Amino acid sequence: MQELLDRKKGLHRKILIVDDEFIEREMLGNMLNGMFEVAYAEDGEAALDTVKREKNKLSLIILDLHMPKLDGYSLLEILHSDPELRRIPVIVLTAEKEAEVKSLQLGAADFITKPYEVPEVIQARVMHSIELAESSVIIHETERDELTGLFHKEFFFEYGRLLDVQNENAPMDAVVIDVNRFHIVNELYGREFGDSVLKKLGKSIHDFVNENGGLACRSDSNCFYVYIPHQADLKEVLPEQIEKLDNLFAEPKISLRAGAFIDDGSCTDMEQRFDRARLACGQLSKSYETGYGFYSAALHDNELHSEHLIKDMDKALAEKQFKVFYQPKYNIEGDQPRLCSAEALIRWFHPVYGMISPGEFISLFEEKGLIHKLDRYVWNEAASQIKKWKDRYGVTIPVSVNVSRVDVFDPLLGEMLDGIVKANGIMHDDLLLEITESAYTDSSQQIIETVEALRSRGFKIEMDDFGSGYSSLNMLTSLPIDALKLDMKFIRNICVNKKDCALVEIMIKIADLLEVPIIAEGVETREQAELLKRIGCEIIQGYYFSKPVPSDEFERFIEK
Ligand code: C2E
Ligand code: CA
Ligand code: CA
Repeated sequence: MQELLDRKKGLHRKILIVDDEFIEREMLGNMLNGMFEVAYAEDGEAALDTVKREKNKLSLIILDLHMPKLDGYSLLEILHSDPELRRIPVIVLTAEKEAEVKSLQLGAADFITKPYEVPEVIQARVMHSIELAESSVIIHETERDELTGLFHKEFFFEYGRLLDVQNENAPMDAVVIDVNRFHIVNELYGREFGDSVLKKLGKSIHDFVNENGGLACRSDSNCFYVYIPHQADLKEVLPEQIEKLDNLFAEPKISLRAGAFIDDGSCTDMEQRFDRARLACGQLSKSYETGYGFYSAALHDNELHSEHLIKDMDKALAEKQFKVFYQPKYNIEGDQPRLCSAEALIRWFHPVYGMISPGEFISLFEEKGLIHKLDRYVWNEAASQIKKWKDRYGVTIPVSVNVSRVDVFDPLLGEMLDGIVKANGIMHDDLLLEITESAYTDSSQQIIETVEALRSRGFKIEMDDFGSGYSSLNMLTSLPIDALKLDMKFIRNICVNKKDCALVEIMIKIADLLEVPIIAEGVETREQAELLKRIGCEIIQGYYFSKPVPSDEFERFIEK
C-alpha cells in the first residue's frame, strides 16, 4: 500500500539536479523534494559520474547549461550519444530562447525558464517528462525483440510500409539471413550459446542498418530481415557483409545463408520484396558452409517449374511416369567382386521436360509434404522387383531404398513397410532402408525411436551419406544401425588427397568398432576401387561397376 502511494506521488523516482549555484539547486530541490528522491551535482563532471553510477535508478535530470568543467551542452551530447544513458530524460534550465532550441536539438526533453515559475508548474513538467520517457521505454520493449534489440516482425513490416509511403515508394532492397540448422547448434552447444550467436548477429545487422539506413528485425527464432534503401552495388556489398557475419563464428563454426532481392523496379510493396528475398534464400542448401544468393528472373522461372512439378506429381504416379532404376553394390572382399545388393533410385520421365533426376524434385517434394507418396511407390516397386528376381533366378538380391528424413516422422511408417513386405512375399531384410546421416543429427531422438522400431520388425538400416553430418562418435555408438554408407565426397579425391584417404580409413575403423559393414559409393575408377579394397572397405557402389539402370538392364549383372 505504502509503495502504491509512493508510486502515485512519484517518490520511488530519483531525479538529479545539476547546477553550479547553490541557491538555485536548493530552490529547485525544495520544490521537488516531497515528490521525488532528489540528488544534486555542482558541475558537469560530477553529474556525469553520478549518472553513470546510477543510470538504472535515475528517472530524470534537471540540467543547468552554464557550468564550470563540463557545461550543460557537452553533457547533453554525451548523454544522448550513449545508448544506455539516452533513455534518461533531461530538462534544461535556461533563460535564453536560442538555448532552448539548441538544447532541444541536442535531445533535451523540455526546459524550465529562469526565474522559476510556481512550483506546481515545475512539478507537473517534471512528472510529464518522466511519464513520457517511461511509456516510450514500454513501447520500445513491445516493438523490439528482447534478445537482439531488433524489431519484432509485425512492427518491422508496419514501419517498413510507413517508410515506403514517406519515401514515395523509393526503391528498397530486401535481405533475408538465416542461421543453418540452428536447433542443432542449440542442442550441441546449449541454449546460452545459441542466444549469444543470435545476439552477435543482431548487433552486426543493427550496425549495418545504421550505416545504410533502413530497418531490421528478427523474424523468427533464427531468421533476420533487413530492409534498406536500394544500393546499386549490393551485389558486392552483401557478400562482404555476409563474410563479416560468418567470421564472427569461427569456433564452433556456424553457417548462414542469405538471400536478397535487389530492387529492379518490378516490385512495389515490401511483402513482395521479401517473398523474393526468401525465395533466393530458400534456393540455397542448408549446408555447413555459409552461402548467399540473389533473386533473379531465372529463379522465378525455377519457382514456376517447381510449381509445375508439384502439380503434375499425382498424375505422373498414376501414369507410371516414375521409373525405379537400380544400381548394383559389389562385395570386393574376395578375389572377384560379387554382386551383393542394389540401390533403388527414382527417375521421372516427364512428358514435357524429359528425364528428370531426383536431385531436382526430392527436396521439393519433401518441403511440400509429398515425398511419402513417392517413396511408398518406390518401396512397392522395389519390393515387387525383389520378388520377381527371386522367382526368376532363385536368388535374393536385397534392394536398399531411400527413406526420406520426412518419412521418419510418419507414425505409420513401420506398419506401412511391413505391409509392403508382406504383400510382395519377401523378407524384411530383403528391403534395406537407407536414411541419411543428417536426418539423425537433425532429429536424433525421434529417429532413434523410429529406427529401433523398424529394426525390431526385422528391417536393416543403412546410414547414408556418412561423414556429411555432425554425428559424434559418442552418438554413433548408441545408434541402432546395420551399415554405414560413406558420403561420395570422400571417395572423389581419395587417390589424390591424402587427407581424404586418411578420413576414409578412420571411418572404416569406426565401422569396425560398431561391427557393421562399410559401403563406399560414388566409386568411379579402378584405382579408387583397389585403394578401397586395400584399406579394408567391404562393399562398393558406383559408375565403376555401373550407373543406375532400369530393372531389365540390371538383370545382366544377376546373370553374370
Ligand atoms: P543418394 O542416396 O546418395 O544416391 C546416390 C547418388 O549418387 C545417386 O544419384 C546415384 O545415381 C549417384 N551415383 C552413384 N554412383 C555414382 C558415381 O560413381 N559417381 C557419381 N558422380 N554419382 C554416382 P541420383 O540417382 O541422382 O539420386 C540423388 C539423390 O536423390 C539420392 O542420393 C537420394 O538422396 C535421392 N533419391 C533418389 N531416389 C530416391 C527415392 O526414391 N526416395 C528418396 N526419398 N530419395 C531418393
Ligand atoms: Ca541412398
Ligand atoms: Ca548417399
